[in-house]
Amino acid sequence: AKGANDVTPSFFEQSMDDAARERRVLAHEMRRALETGQFYLNFQQQHAVRNNAIVGYEALLRWRHPQKGLVPPDVFIPIAEESGLILDLGAWVLQQACAEAVTWQVHQKIAVNISPLQLTNPTLVDNVREALQKSGLDPSQLELEVTETAIISDRERVLPVLQQLHGLGVTIAIDDFGTGYSSLATLNSFSFDRIKVDRSFVTNLAENSRSHSMLRTILALGKSLQVSVLVEGVETVDQLTILAQEGCAEVQGFIYGQPAPLADLLHSVGLPHEE
Ligand code: C2E
Ligand code: CA
Ligand code: CA
Ligand code: CA
Repeated sequence: AKGANDVTPSFFEQSMDDAARERRVLAHEMRRALETGQFYLNFQQQHAVRNNAIVGYEALLRWRHPQKGLVPPDVFIPIAEESGLILDLGAWVLQQACAEAVTWQVHQKIAVNISPLQLTNPTLVDNVREALQKSGLDPSQLELEVTETAIISDRERVLPVLQQLHGLGVTIAIDDFGTGYSSLATLNSFSFDRIKVDRSFVTNLAENSRSHSMLRTILALGKSLQVSVLVEGVETVDQLTILAQEGCAEVQGFIYGQPAPLADLLHSVGLPHEE
């Protein structure tokens, strides 16, 4: 007969354990992955609506695991954030993105995602400066994407960091705009150069008049604050048409292209430019 102590864990407890174990395994493997070159960058084009011209490229981190294949960033980034590895990984992304931009002679903006932990860590400004110096990239070409939530989490610490970054000559974009807390308060309290409107506002743009009104309001806000507004996640011609009608200047999304290695993007033909 079973003793009182050897109780079979419930399915729930079991799966919690499995998830926690998997996270620990990934955290461990990720450190090694950084040392052995399993990470690489994809880039996604950003386009001017007016003439379809490419105005920038966002760097998107990829992990090719030797056994598991591609691990999605939505899985490994939070784990890297939790384990602190995002600091080293983020520094690598900065160096790599700047270096590739110079290697491939990109003259548009290169946007790099900065995680909340990086933003509150004193090494960020040095890492950005070093990436610029080592690569020789013009600072005005580098854009850092930060989220509202990260700014709000520790305003006292983040605001001077953003000022120092501006001092280096890079630009700052607010990523996932509209999904964080107190957007308007954030906008009011620090200087930034671009708003990236979250994909959720675009998803049912053609069917949902509320999404339409919200987007119109955000575009008007950008105009009155004189910051550029880029709308993310544009997938269909219907969405693009509405955005063009509303005076949206810049978009990013599958309609123009999937994230891919920079070399592939530069050698593909893409949509014709109408200049
Ligand atoms: P994000 O910064 O909001 O990046 C945009 C995500 O939307 C990317 O997913 C991109 O592939 C996807 N996307 C672009 N266009 C479309 C579209 O038209 N439709 C749909 N459905 N999706 C679209 P990805 O590459 O899987 O990255 C997910 C998230 O992981 C990013 O969201 C970002 O928060 C994070 N991430 C990626 N790379 C880095 C990095 O180097 N550092 C940090 N800290 N975070 C990163
Ligand atoms: Ca982003
Ligand atoms: Ca985003
Ligand atoms: Ca995101």
